[in-house]
Amino acid sequence: MSLPFFKLPLDVPNYPADRYAPLADRLRRLLATKSDLVFIQAEALLALEASAISLARPGVSALNIVTSPYGAYFGAWLRRGGAAVEEITAAPGQPITLDAVNAALAPGKSLDIVALVHGEGANGALNPLAGIAARARGRDALVVVDAVASFGAHPLDVDALGIDIAVIGPQKALAGPAGLSAVTVSGRAWAHIAKTADFAPSSLSLAEIKSAWLEAGRGALPGTPSALEFWALEAAIDRVEAEGLASVITRHARAARAARAGLRGLGIAPWIADDAAASHLVTSAPVPPGLDANRIIAEAAEHGVALGKGFGDIEGKLVRLDHTGPRAGFTSVMASVTAYGKAVGKLGGKADVGAGAAAVASAYFDAGG
Ligand SMILES: *Cc1c(COP(=O)(O)O)cnc(C)c1O
Repeated sequence: MSLPFFKLPLDVPNYPADRYAPLADRLRRLLATKSDLVFIQAEALLALEASAISLARPGVSALNIVTSPYGAYFGAWLRRGGAAVEEITAAPGQPITLDAVNAALAPGKSLDIVALVHGEGANGALNPLAGIAARARGRDALVVVDAVASFGAHPLDVDALGIDIAVIGPQKALAGPAGLSAVTVSGRAWAHIAKTADFAPSSLSLAEIKSAWLEAGRGALPGTPSALEFWALEAAIDRVEAEGLASVITRHARAARAARAGLRGLGIAPWIADDAAASHLVTSAPVPPGLDANRIIAEAAEHGVALGKGFGDIEGKLVRLDHTGPRAGFTSVMASVTAYGKAVGKLGGKADVGAGAAAVASAYFDAGG
């Protein structure tokens, strides 16, 4: 790993108090939501935890949809807060099916919250958010979405889908900093949160952030605001606005299409068979029978190509071709597909690297590709 050849200006000036609210509003505009938006000065996992524990209390029932370790954490936090959590888990590395959601939403059962991840960075699954949100709203349940990875890579219409809480992280498709995150909170969600026993003082209490920031005129954030992270978020939003959110999403969609075409060109089926069920963030490729995931990753790494491991129930079964954020482009997708193909071939598997490369190039260079 080579170090940056320039010196980063790390002695950053303070982030001025009068910039927080406009920054939140720029993010809200990108999300096209009328919900409130609060910042959490920590990586998105903490924003997820803050959301879960601000919603959870004894007497609350939740349906938690698990398609990666992130969803499993969310369920654990809800339970810790005293909520009754029913969990449905997808097949390894696959999105949940609407049939499974329908079966879990049997009428008569009380239901306050439906929680899910939208697009998975951990395995490339894309959950059927619109259908799940509609069913949850039909049951009058709050819709809580981990959109950390998907925002910027997939359309996310917070208000039209009736999403009550969306957790956003700048470090994935938005190519921003990892040390702060944001949560959109609807009026319905605030009403629910208001009934949870106050656990202030806590940096993870959404109710406390509401009173200490939203209701205090949205000047400087409570605590010591992290200037480095906020300047970096502002720079990321500048870039997204300049490129246009729609083009950022299209760029991710094209990278996914190219990666999937590339795998098929190699003669290897993507882990997720259905294109519509695959996220635009990463494309999971199987570890062919008899081969070792870590050796495929090591072979690619020797040539500077970072393939990702699978996490949780898919560990060792697939490798991830990451095309998120700055990697959502031709160079990165071509490198990932050909390095994966060469590594598979070298380790004794079968891959037509020429056809894989041609398919990636075609997805970028040929009209309609
Ligand atoms: C990356 C990611 C997160 C947050 O992970 P961090 O460790 O905060 O970067 C949460 N949910 C999903 C779906 C993710 O892809």
